[in-house]
Amino acid sequence: MDESTVVRAVEKRLFIDGKWTDATGGATFDVVDPSTGAVLCAVADASPADGRAALDAAVAAQADFARTSPRERSDLLMTAYRLLTERVDELALLMTLEMGKPLAEARGEIAYAAEFFRHFSGEALRIDGGYQTAPAGNARFLITKQPVGPCLLITPWNFPMAMGTRKLGPAIAAGCTSVIKPAHQTPLSMLALMEILAEAGLPAGAVNCVTAMDAGGVMEPLIRSGLARKLSFTGSTKVGRILLEQCAEKVLRTSLELGGNAPFIVFEDADLDEAVTGAIAAKMRNMGEACTAANRIFVHSSVIDDFGRRLAERMGALRVGRGTEEGVNVGPLIDAAGLEKVRSLVADAVDRGATVLTGGEVAMGRERDTGFFYPPTVLTGVPREAAMADQEIFGPVAPLTPFETEDEVVRAANDTEYGLVAYVFTNDLRRALRVAESIETGMVGLNQGVVSNPAAPFGGVKQSGLGREGGSVGIEEFLETKYIGIAVSS
Ligand code: ADP
Repeated sequence: MDESTVVRAVEKRLFIDGKWTDATGGATFDVVDPSTGAVLCAVADASPADGRAALDAAVAAQADFARTSPRERSDLLMTAYRLLTERVDELALLMTLEMGKPLAEARGEIAYAAEFFRHFSGEALRIDGGYQTAPAGNARFLITKQPVGPCLLITPWNFPMAMGTRKLGPAIAAGCTSVIKPAHQTPLSMLALMEILAEAGLPAGAVNCVTAMDAGGVMEPLIRSGLARKLSFTGSTKVGRILLEQCAEKVLRTSLELGGNAPFIVFEDADLDEAVTGAIAAKMRNMGEACTAANRIFVHSSVIDDFGRRLAERMGALRVGRGTEEGVNVGPLIDAAGLEKVRSLVADAVDRGATVLTGGEVAMGRERDTGFFYPPTVLTGVPREAAMADQEIFGPVAPLTPFETEDEVVRAANDTEYGLVAYVFTNDLRRALRVAESIETGMVGLNQGVVSNPAAPFGGVKQSGLGREGGSVGIEEFLETKYIGIAVSS
């Protein structure tokens, strides 16, 4: 399928109670291709009343959906996994058009997204319980797990499909119904996913999707309604804090995957080639627009020059362009605000004494006239007071900072409100374990630049979030434990 065919083919209305419906008054908003700035299409712009209709449908469907057998829910997820896998090419193109990432990465994301469905298809069959004798011997404890209830799921634009399946997979596996709201920048992938779930046999109302420009206006009344029992959110720490406060009113279960400020540490005994490859993976996946992106690269002072030269060579050779073009490695940033943020963070670091090894404002030759492109950039000697040391860059900029000792670098790595992931490169096993255990993050990549895996527990500590997604714990976030006490004679 060509570009206009994939955009034309996808549904652009709200998915409520198993039916496609227009937003109140036929309202729509535009979806823009970030590589050209051109409007791709318009999609339904839900009103608060539309949001409420979606939640009402989820609430009405909950009891029946909870009664479906684990096998039925498992089979549904497996069918959806197969459909996603079969349609990888058209889904990847759709994602590249709305989000900008190169086609190869979009294909990778569809495979990763599908894998959540396959993983949770298995987990649906392994919801466990227990049977126990009370310490006094006069009772038995029957322990069982039940779905939490209707869920509100809010996803970001950077992984438009995988962030959806990472929440919907465990919700469906657990028997929870939901309302999902994708980011307004990238609604098309989620709408395509609704078509796939419907085709896979999803019961009406079990998943509902609302697209909306005014996320807060639509979601806040739903959170405060008390009709939903859980919120699962992936996005910024700033919005996560607001949502956590809103959830407090009706004491909703919450899972939050928020921002990161990942340290990437290269010790003097590391394999430098491996470390450079790891840094490119940790930095350049998704053009740096990932909460797991290496945001502060600490390199031992004895190897920083060599590491910086090799990294700059490889980063400088990456091809920037429209994600649909053959051979492009780096697409545009999501929008003008994202581009402006990267520009100002680089300018601030340079003002404070950082040196540009490749890319940067001074070498913007490859920046296009249109689209939100920024060149892969390596900065060295970035002082710890630079604004980018505290903020998510969310762009293709690798800031290198030297260090001398293990204690010093661990302290610097932990000197942040975030705690999502850290990357550590060393060939010394004792040091690797020592550092991995002292770093305050939910995840550590040891000699590897990518940690995301549907079968592993993804999540952060500190202000990077609450709860875990993926792995065997991922489904627990959507289950309540119930204990039934049974009296027996002795
Ligand atoms: P980013 O900065 O990456 O866009 P956000 O946290 O702003 O991250 O957005 C992540 C998701 O949260 C998106 O789906 C967005 O529409 C939604 N969102 C933003 N603000 C609110 C809000 N006040 N209430 C509910 N959802 C919101």
